[in-house]
Amino acid sequence: MKTFLYTAIILLVQIGFAQKKLAKQINKEVKKEDYQSYVYFLASDEMRGRNTGTQENEIAARFIAEQFRSFGVKPVPGTENYFQPVYLQKSKAPREASVILGDSVFNLWKDMIFVSTSNVDLKAEMMFVEYGFEEDLEGKDVEGKILIAKAGNGDPSKGSYKFSLQKSALARERGALGLIELYRPSRIPWKLIVNYLSGDQFALDHGQQSKPFPSGWLVDESGDLLSYFKSKDGEEITLKLSGSGNEKVIAPNVVAYIEGTDPELKDDYILISAHLDHVGVKNVVGGEDSIWNGARDNGIGIANMINTAKYFAKHPAKRSILFLACNAEEVGLLGSQWYAEHPLIPLEKTVFNLNTDTGGYDDISKVTIVGFNRTSVTPYLVEGADMFGLEAIDDMFPEENFYDRSDNVSFAAKGVPAVSYGPGVVEMGAAITDYYHQPTDEPQTLDYDYLIKFSKAYIYTLNKIANTNDVLWWTPGDKYEEDGKKLYGKN
Ligand SMILES: [Zn+2]
Repeated sequence: MKTFLYTAIILLVQIGFAQKKLAKQINKEVKKEDYQSYVYFLASDEMRGRNTGTQENEIAARFIAEQFRSFGVKPVPGTENYFQPVYLQKSKAPREASVILGDSVFNLWKDMIFVSTSNVDLKAEMMFVEYGFEEDLEGKDVEGKILIAKAGNGDPSKGSYKFSLQKSALARERGALGLIELYRPSRIPWKLIVNYLSGDQFALDHGQQSKPFPSGWLVDESGDLLSYFKSKDGEEITLKLSGSGNEKVIAPNVVAYIEGTDPELKDDYILISAHLDHVGVKNVVGGEDSIWNGARDNGIGIANMINTAKYFAKHPAKRSILFLACNAEEVGLLGSQWYAEHPLIPLEKTVFNLNTDTGGYDDISKVTIVGFNRTSVTPYLVEGADMFGLEAIDDMFPEENFYDRSDNVSFAAKGVPAVSYGPGVVEMGAAITDYYHQPTDEPQTLDYDYLIKFSKAYIYTLNKIANTNDVLWWTPGDKYEEDGKKLYGKN
């Protein structure tokens, strides 16, 4: 018994010693100045907010690739010079649009926005179709008609945008000429909806020749419009749109890897992801700052990725580490989705995804992990933070469903265990909202003493994940566990 106790103590001391040694090495090699310079470059005014499809977005990708090259981090076979082209279709919002029904005229922006567009000048019969889902169209002849539907699916906690895409695809397929949804603002006011959807819309380009189709929302603040449109069912309606157009855009994902040192485990890849794009430059009144710099979103994530690449280029782990700086996240998680559909390393060899995407932080004693308890790596998340005087906590806003709103979900939905590792957030107060998707999100407003600790904790944690012999897996019962079983052939 005594010998056992003695051995156990020695073992614990050895583990403690190894942990300290690792932390010490990270402390010595990971430099605040490096981290700062990555953020200052990417989120500078000169980079004009790195919007998808702009030259500055490509410069950001180039910058990341050249950092990788300088560390000796290699391009993945199948890329050209670290770049994976993401094929996108961009549809430009219309400049003018109107809907005329009886003696009512509805106008663009004030009353209406378009989720998908084409230039049309239509006079057709109007048909009210409830929500416009499959069951609502059953037995109805919608061909040649302009459909009117209620937005969403009746559950106000669910966003309406995804349903819109679904409904307009269905309406187009059935031969309708257009779809107008009556939108009742609830949590999100109309003005914000217009802000969000008035820009160009992007979608993955799979080479499909989809006919453009006008599909929009008409704001119905009080619910009166619903009864008005219902009362006019079957009458003639006019729909006019002009100034919209479609264009093909190619945006680069940046991909690189560090080969693992273990002859067997090196076939396992840990995928490090963060998005490089932000939302660009917007029209503002009166000479105010018009550049959305995106220092937090997601300069922090990319600076972290570059720091990580630099460290592991010198100290490779047993498993291979794959870096993916995703593009087109802000326009719908499209770069990561493209990668997940066209992986350069087979997805079944991608055993874990550690993502970083941040809207900022308000507690510099913590790191926030979206998906904290959803995979088997929780102890490493805790230990890594602890080694640098931080506390790892779960995401405090499960109702916001952040897990399914960033690039990690592109991989999780395919079955890859994934978490999103970010700086500490405990309340959605001014420390967040003053900067989140605002022109004030600038490099000089960040606390780099904190962020370098955050980055070190991240590197320590990744070191643990990439070196453990344990299988990395979903917490049993997770909604993506079944997808994992399918992906890795565990059924
Ligand atoms: Zn982001």
